[in-house]
Amino acid sequence: MKDERIRVAARWLHEAERVVVFTGAGISTESGIPDFRSPGGVWSRYNQDDLTYQRFRSHERYRKLYWEYDRARFPAMRDAQPNAAHHAVVEIERSGRLAALVTQNIDGLHQKAGSSPDKVLELHGTVHAVTCLDCDRRWNREEITARMEAEGIDVPYCEHCGGPLKCATIAFGQSLPADVLDQAFHHARHCDLFLTVGSSLVVQPAALLPAEARRAGAKLVLINLSDTPYDAIMDILLIGKAGPTAAALLAEFARL
Ligand SMILES: [Zn+2]
Repeated sequence: MKDERIRVAARWLHEAERVVVFTGAGISTESGIPDFRSPGGVWSRYNQDDLTYQRFRSHERYRKLYWEYDRARFPAMRDAQPNAAHHAVVEIERSGRLAALVTQNIDGLHQKAGSSPDKVLELHGTVHAVTCLDCDRRWNREEITARMEAEGIDVPYCEHCGGPLKCATIAFGQSLPADVLDQAFHHARHCDLFLTVGSSLVVQPAALLPAEARRAGAKLVLINLSDTPYDAIMDILLIGKAGPTAAALLAEFARL
């Protein structure tokens, strides 16, 4: 049954002209990036309420705490390697069909796998950059953390405007970047195949993207390890690990 579904999904991929791929945490856990909310994870050592955007803005001590947390979680993401699911997305792009790659992940593994940076829409930002919260200037992360280490700085500030610098990810209480979200919805409305990989579709508003694509007439394919609230609207549901399932789909696609 699953083999038949993979064959149909591969045919749809072959026939498609504008594919949107949407990825979530499930694709990164298979690259060994731990779930920071799990017991014993970096996240569990901190009170979540202390890591909100509002606290970060409010006081130096919360900014210090956030940077500690951020530097603790970074090495796992820096050292992780892309898996078969990331490579499958690269192959879709190379076939000329990829309109956009929308991701909830902050680890940069799609770019590391070879996806073009201009195709990747990072809804929750990236750990690989640092941004000034006041003037929006951006820096490479390692440039800032090297300076922090060399000068013994706990919290970096902007050399242009004095604003606080923060990892370019979206903290709790911080709104998603409107331009990135707009582009994601635009592509969802204009694709003919919407492929979700490794997302349980529970985090809003991103979880609304497949429904938006369906309203516009796209076919929906989902690869995920568990059920999602949107299973009923999917045309093809492939329950399984992201890497092997996406690899099987692309192997079938390559035969067409
Ligand atoms: Zn600034």
